[in-house]
Amino acid sequence: MSVGGMGYTRPMFEVKQLNDLQDIDLKAAAAQERLASVRGKLSDRSGIQSAKRRLGELEKRAEELSTQRRGIERLVSEIDTSLKRLDQRLYGGGVTNPQHLAAAEEERKFTAARQRDAEDQLLEVMIRLEELEPVLAEARDAASRLEEARPGLEDGWREEERDLTARLAALRNEREALLPSMPVNLLPMYESLRKSKGGRAVALVERGTCQGCRLALTTQEMQRARVGQQVVQCSSCGRILYVV
Ligand SMILES: [Zn+2]
Repeated sequence: MSVGGMGYTRPMFEVKQLNDLQDIDLKAAAAQERLASVRGKLSDRSGIQSAKRRLGELEKRAEELSTQRRGIERLVSEIDTSLKRLDQRLYGGGVTNPQHLAAAEEERKFTAARQRDAEDQLLEVMIRLEELEPVLAEARDAASRLEEARPGLEDGWREEERDLTARLAALRNEREALLPSMPVNLLPMYESLRKSKGGRAVALVERGTCQGCRLALTTQEMQRARVGQQVVQCSSCGRILYVV
């Protein structure tokens, strides 16, 4: 009954073979997952895009505020001119009619109030522009930092992609080399358990516990698995038990 010169019974040896196959399949699954993640990173430019979008929005805001500032500055200078003209009328001695003087006085008050309003507005816009400046600089830095770092990151990811692709090909070869010696009668069970049990069809038994579901085996299960006269599945999770 001894197989492979290692004192195994045939079922035990077959379970060991399935476990070897599973090792390869698990490595391949991990490499495949990593490859998908690396390819995801390569195609995902959303970080840079959102940094640029933010920068664009801030630049647009700064431009709007600058336009606003120029408009208010123009208004302030127009009001200034009006005030000078009014002052000339009031104090230049050209107007003597008390009614006209009173009207000019009234207009001057009104215009001076407009000037204060315009100056307040100007101050507010200038403060907002000043506050925006460091935010804009930070956004510009962030966008260019991301942009500059990208080629280096991409090089790294591409290298990893190449390594993983090569590793997957090697694992595929290893699997194909192993398959002819695999127990044909157990392969369908292995494949179907692999699908339903998250890639792990074979579970190690350690200290009387199935390492697939972490539940303790019964004494009978333990005994049957150890004796190795048949392939034993865990009564809790259904995985093929492998006693080392
Ligand atoms: Zn189990």
